[in-house]
Amino acid sequence: MNDALRELYQEVILDHGKKPRNFRPLEQATHCAEGHNPLCGDCVTVQVIVEDGVVREATFQGSGCAISTASASLMTEAIQGKSVEEAMALFDEFRAAVVENRESDDLGKLEVLLGVKEFPVRVKCATLAWHTLQAAIQGEGVASTE
Ligand code: ZN
Repeated sequence: MNDALRELYQEVILDHGKKPRNFRPLEQATHCAEGHNPLCGDCVTVQVIVEDGVVREATFQGSGCAISTASASLMTEAIQGKSVEEAMALFDEFRAAVVENRESDDLGKLEVLLGVKEFPVRVKCATLAWHTLQAAIQGEGVASTE
């Protein structure tokens, strides 16, 4: 990754970390779960409205480091309008890219988070919202990165 790109990615993360998108309660949520990352102290609640197998709306709340907040913010943007299968496939893709360092060109904006793979502790911050989304969709209610 060249420096200019790294800087741009850093800016997007900071922007989403400071001004998270879709950061609010979702009254009519059909699925909801809480996630915890004890290693860093990140807590996130993900709420979604799923209709006919499609994520109509996704929001989150909670407190955490800039990476976990930015990741949750980017996730809610990325999954809106996608089918549940597509959203979960995107999680697999994202997880494979940050955890297993696998090549991917389908991540879109989520690519800005790929820098975390150099920092194993940060990987859990970046994947927390996704684990929480998965728990919500599967009706588990609670997710932990441990
Ligand atoms: Zn964190």
